[in-house]
Amino acid sequence: MSQRGARAQGQEKCSGWEYHAQGTKILCVTNNESITDLLDRLCAVVPDYPQPGISFKDLTPVFADPIGLRRLVDELIAPFAGSYDIVAGLEARGFVLAAAAAYASGKGMLTIRKAGKLPREVFRDDYTLEYGSASLEIHKDEIAPGTRVLVLDDVLATGGTVGSSARLIERAGGVVAGVGVILELEELAGRKKLSGYDVRSLQLV
Ligand code: AMP
Repeated sequence: MSQRGARAQGQEKCSGWEYHAQGTKILCVTNNESITDLLDRLCAVVPDYPQPGISFKDLTPVFADPIGLRRLVDELIAPFAGSYDIVAGLEARGFVLAAAAAYASGKGMLTIRKAGKLPREVFRDDYTLEYGSASLEIHKDEIAPGTRVLVLDDVLATGGTVGSSARLIERAGGVVAGVGVILELEELAGRKKLSGYDVRSLQLV
């Protein structure tokens, strides 16, 4: 994964993409670029952000790129096809992925938010992450019992955020159908906190 110098060249490589629609499903019919190449082209790595020692993986250039966004969302949802009823996005970058995924698969979207943002009655869960601690909340009444929830976020680091979200979904009556992330920071072993869940990442870093 590099800094953003190779972008213009990479975009040329992808200019032949085509899509066609089949019902609500959008298929990519021409796709020569590997996920690794795509992320090399689009993910910006920012050293020492937001604090010294953290190598921040900035995926916002993926969201800004029409090919990158569609390709990654398609890849995130593909393994879970038919196994979820709603897509949960984790604030804030997870919202982008979850909204696109929900739209692409004809589902609704659930927002799991930082404390104090949701206006109605919530369940709250406190947890630790790579650089600090945080709390997440979910509306108490947003999902029917047994709703199968696909959880999406950009990066899996220590697993605290996804673990907290899974607890909230279950307290609200839902079932975690799976977890999809773009990047998994392998050395932080977040997956270990998530045993029992089907966790898929598009790229280990
Ligand atoms: P964690 O709870 O430790 O798994 O952290 C995951 C959450 O924090 C995700 O919502 C990420 O967006 C963010 N995050 C943690 N570490 C990084 C990192 N090195 N680069 C980018 N985002 C990160």
